[in-house]
Amino acid sequence: MSDCVFCKIAAGEIPAAIVKRDGRFVAFRDINPQAPTHLLVIPTHHVASLNQSKDAALLGELLAFARDLAQETGIGERGYRVVFNTNPDGGQTVFHLHLHLLGGRPMTWPPG
Ligand code: 5GP
Ligand code: ZN
Repeated sequence: MSDCVFCKIAAGEIPAAIVKRDGRFVAFRDINPQAPTHLLVIPTHHVASLNQSKDAALLGELLAFARDLAQETGIGERGYRVVFNTNPDGGQTVFHLHLHLLGGRPMTWPPG
């Protein structure tokens, strides 16, 4: 989508600290990190939110990609949090499906 910031990151049209990519997903550092490790993982094609994602296999692969990324970035064993903010009550601000991978410090519960 032409006016979507995450589509532009996936296409290399705006810069981002990309840490991993394959044919389907891109992972990059959040510009406003909430933890020592705060990565965003997106599908390269545009999907607005979890509500719009009709491809269960893609969602499973996205989760597996994030799990592997947690191991590769050294937070896998201590632990981490995976978050999909969805729509206004979920706190979603960028409407291109993304997963937050947070780690490097103990997380609290309940979330804010
Ligand atoms: P949301 O609130 O939609 O779940 O998360 C969007 C995330 O994208 C936020 O954590 C925000 O800091 C991050 N973000 C927004 N714009 C950019 C950008 O241009 N580059 C990067 N790397 N992160 C961004
Ligand atoms: Zn997009």
